[in-house]
Amino acid sequence: MQVEQTAIENMRSHASERHLGTVICQHCGNVIDTLPTNGVKMLYGDCGTIECAVARAGAAQQQSGCR
Ligand SMILES: [Zn+2]
Repeated sequence: MQVEQTAIENMRSHASERHLGTVICQHCGNVIDTLPTNGVKMLYGDCGTIECAVARAGAAQQQSGCR
């Protein structure tokens, strides 16, 4: 199984080199995913995590909070 592990490691390092596109959550800035793109690119999406949704709900409450 040593050979298989080495092959996977090679694939990973190779893939990460090609993944120049970074998908970032437009709400919390977390890196969601990386994509194989030509050149460095920044894409914005929604990470969809509970933490992010809670943080957004909290921010919305603060904005509309009573003064
Ligand atoms: Zn997020």
